[in-house]
Amino acid sequence: MLNFLWFRNDLRLKDNKNLNFKSNKDIKMIPIYILDADILSRRDISAARMNFLYSCLISLNENLKCIGSSLIVVEGVPKIFWKDLASKRVISILASKDYSPFSKRRDQAVEQGLKNTNSTIQFVKNNVVFDKDDGLLNPSGGPIKIFKSFKNAWLKKLKNDLGVLDFDYEINEMFLSKEEINEICKELNIESKNIDDLKKNSFHTEDPNLIWDNFKNKKISEYGNNRNFLDFNSTSKLSKHLKFGTISTYRIVKDCIDALGKNFVEFKQFKNTNKEGIEIFLSEIIWREFYKYILDNFPEVAKEPFQKKYKKIEWDHDKVKFKLWKKGLTGYPIVDACMRQLNSENWMHNRGRMIVASFLCKDLHINWQWGEKYFREKLIDYDLSANNGGWQWVAGTGTDAAPYFRIFNPAEQSKRFDPKGSFIKKYIPEIRNVPLKYIHEPWRMPLELQNEIKVILGKDYPKPIVNHAKERQIALKRYKNI
Ligand SMILES: Cc1cc2nc3c(=O)[nH]c(=O)nc-3n(C[C@H](O)[C@H](O)[C@H](O)COP(=O)(O)OP(=O)(O)OC[C@H]3O[C@@H](n4cnc5c(N)ncnc54)[C@H](O)[C@@H]3O)c2cc1C
Repeated sequence: MLNFLWFRNDLRLKDNKNLNFKSNKDIKMIPIYILDADILSRRDISAARMNFLYSCLISLNENLKCIGSSLIVVEGVPKIFWKDLASKRVISILASKDYSPFSKRRDQAVEQGLKNTNSTIQFVKNNVVFDKDDGLLNPSGGPIKIFKSFKNAWLKKLKNDLGVLDFDYEINEMFLSKEEINEICKELNIESKNIDDLKKNSFHTEDPNLIWDNFKNKKISEYGNNRNFLDFNSTSKLSKHLKFGTISTYRIVKDCIDALGKNFVEFKQFKNTNKEGIEIFLSEIIWREFYKYILDNFPEVAKEPFQKKYKKIEWDHDKVKFKLWKKGLTGYPIVDACMRQLNSENWMHNRGRMIVASFLCKDLHINWQWGEKYFREKLIDYDLSANNGGWQWVAGTGTDAAPYFRIFNPAEQSKRFDPKGSFIKKYIPEIRNVPLKYIHEPWRMPLELQNEIKVILGKDYPKPIVNHAKERQIALKRYKNI
């Protein structure tokens, strides 16, 4: 029998539950990654995300090389690939559990393809601490729909099951050697790609464990105070690594719990202490798990509002305004700076994501699903569950979403979270000469000043495409009417 470890969003050798699961020294595995033809053919896939994936595969292969093994990378449709292999040899496949509707369909198809053979596939929870099968339920036995209740249940469960964070395996003994793998590829006609070919599109990425260590040692304690400031560089920037599993969420959670101490469940005690930052950061990690849990339990959210009544909301299908939003040309500097950050770096600050999302749904009255799709096309850390959850939260259609009447005022957000206007000036160089007094609301600048500093609104930088106060009223009316 051949034992395959099918890597997906778990591209790491450290703290990997699949390896822990197969800690039997006598079973040596064959590491493989399938570039899924169904994903590669999609038009909404971000080039930056693909290039980052290639970088992760290269690093994984480097790590495997250090222990004498090597990664097989093939391109194909998983169900066909595995079925074909199972027709030649008895195989066992180990893979991490995945929660999106697409992944669940893919995995069911693979399982189906192996039916009536002696080959098997097993899915192991590897990218979240707790999922739907861990019995996190509301008092009436259904799935939890409110974050606060989920968080409490999650923390309690962890307190009783701290072992879930532990690993016990010796990596050197896990995989077949490169030579053995080459032989098997020859025998089974597996065409592994030359990983060096992926190099031309990849880029160097820092070891995520070092990024985490650095964040944990220098920034986490101030995370609560600083995380909302747009130009503070005060968040972990680990989202793309958590998405592809190059760092383990178990390691992050374990470090947080160790720092919080035995009584970590009593979150209230950390308020105004030097541990508050850790507690707030851990909550964000739990939000990540919550949205995966929601998507797993309610897969229909990928296509429609979680709160069904909002299916009826009236949207404008204004392609012109949508284009201006995408390009960062709305005339609202904070919105435009955030969109330009997304367009140039394929990442956006969380506060920025909330501001631009609110502007799209509540000021431009454009369906949140258009914005969700644009983020999917751009974000390096795109994750269906977090992206969908974030958009539905802002649009007021989600689980415990912001109430519909909480509408972000872009200028006020700007003054609060970019008080010196430095974030705006970084991404919108054409208004860098605008004095601080007007940087958040350049439309208030007197004409003489515009002439003096050579920033003419409507020529050098757009006038606002809508009036926030007016659009706010329209949004309130449309939401209220439902
Ligand atoms: C409209 C919208 C769309 C979003 N789309 C995505 C997405 O596609 N992928 C994604 O990973 N996050 C998404 N988020 C959540 C959040 O903005 C990013 O996770 C965060 O900005 C990533 O930066 P960081 O790693 O420095 O975060 P940190 O502040 O350092 O947080 C640590 C980790 O916690 C998780 N996290 C933090 N905030 C959230 C949150 N609100 N929901 C779920 N997980 C969270 C992420 O894995 C993040 O890496 C979205 C938020 C909104 C409002």
